[in-house]
Amino acid sequence: MQLIWDEFLKIIKEEAGSQVVETWFKAVYLKHWEATTKTVILQAPNQFVCNWIKNHYLNLIKTHLTRLLHTQEIKVEFTTLTQNEEKDKKNIFPAAPLINQKQETKQISSNHLPSVISTKNNLPTKKNNVFPGRLNGKYTFDSFVVGPCNSLAHAAAYAVSQNLGRVYNPLFIYGGTGLGKTHLLHAIGNEVKKNMPNLTVYYETSDNFINNFINSIRFDKHEKFRQKYQNLDLFLLDDIQFFSNKKQTQESFFHIFNLLFEQKKQIVFSSDTFPQEIAGLQNRLKSRLECGLVADIQTPDIETKIAILKKKADLHNIPASDDILELIASKSISNIRELEGALIRVGAFASLTNQPLTYKLAQKVLINFKENGNEQEDDTLILNKILKILSKHYSVSIPELRSHKRSKNIAAVRQISFYLMKKLTFCSLKAIGDFVGGRDHSTVIHAIDKIEKLIQQDPQFAKKLKIIEEEISLN
Ligand code: ADP
Ligand code: MG
Repeated sequence: MQLIWDEFLKIIKEEAGSQVVETWFKAVYLKHWEATTKTVILQAPNQFVCNWIKNHYLNLIKTHLTRLLHTQEIKVEFTTLTQNEEKDKKNIFPAAPLINQKQETKQISSNHLPSVISTKNNLPTKKNNVFPGRLNGKYTFDSFVVGPCNSLAHAAAYAVSQNLGRVYNPLFIYGGTGLGKTHLLHAIGNEVKKNMPNLTVYYETSDNFINNFINSIRFDKHEKFRQKYQNLDLFLLDDIQFFSNKKQTQESFFHIFNLLFEQKKQIVFSSDTFPQEIAGLQNRLKSRLECGLVADIQTPDIETKIAILKKKADLHNIPASDDILELIASKSISNIRELEGALIRVGAFASLTNQPLTYKLAQKVLINFKENGNEQEDDTLILNKILKILSKHYSVSIPELRSHKRSKNIAAVRQISFYLMKKLTFCSLKAIGDFVGGRDHSTVIHAIDKIEKLIQQDPQFAKKLKIIEEEISLN
């Protein structure tokens, strides 16, 4: 469940933005999945969060969880923490949106922006001079796999963590999406926290910085905003490309940078491009960003991809053999987040359907895994392949399968096509019905039920279907 929820959060982050995830979804978790009634139970910290999510994100939740749980038409129910549980959970969700409900309601109703959170409440209390919850404890140097693509960035990050403010200040790490920039920033933070717990370490994404800056202006708290940064020993600022065209934010940040830099406080940036290439960034800021060390991360080679997958399989307890990891690595996915997503999908599919994780199963799950974001095309590809192979095996033409002809033979093959499409793709029942000549989804459900029963009753039929399935997977 945790894996599914993590995967879900990643998708929401991409669709709705990290602020929405940080503000609302991080506080929620997938408590229970009741397969028989197709009901997902989500637990939120309080009624306020519950209602907000229900009113704004229910459709998103349904769409993505339906797909991730490989089912259809799920129901979503919410529960809130009882007071006792709330006490316990605080340790598990340190990054939960620490919402001051009254203030929050007031602000949100006037702005309709979930990101508008009291900065005061959004910052965890400053015990031992660290900000708990800001760092992801899993992103460490230990869990980072070093390969030719990232060795410079890794070495620089490690050196910085051992010599704060004394070498490579600022350190600027750049590279494409999902290649490990955020991981390295957290690794520096975690290492420093471990070795020097008294230092003040602060990680922040640039969009968070921008929001906090805007709020500080809106609520006339700019001086306070600035002071917060002045006292940091290590400032990790992620995805600075978001500062593009944000003139006032750049202005404010420029001063904060100078203050920290003059005091020899360490600053680490990440970005998806080289400083000079960030559009809409003041030149004086660009030159500050590159005055220390600029280190890049390239796309990983296949050996590094396999090594990373091994580490992730251990981390998520996914019993994937080496040949499965090689299969995943051989897909043309260079984004490591997506690579990890493919591994999680394979593991989740096996465990949710109670099947052993074999090479063949992995192949099936990955058959239409989106490569380079081309999910739609891949799905259509496999739907077409199913019709083509069935048409060959049963001597029925594809136009006949898509037609409204009801002759027994055609209808039976059509039903098999629904079954295979549901089994081998992540398409919704509606998409499947639409694809095969515009059938409604109850027709598709009925057909799938029928074929499932037939498989139980008729071993000969089951065997033939298996051969067809393999042919589709291997083609
Ligand atoms: P970016 O910030 O560059 O978009 P992230 O740091 O968020 O990428 O990395 C995406 C995912 O890939 C994370 O789960 C991260 O742990 C993992 N990852 C990236 N590079 C490595 C690596 N070299 N070793 C282990 N995990 C990695
Ligand atoms: Mg990142």
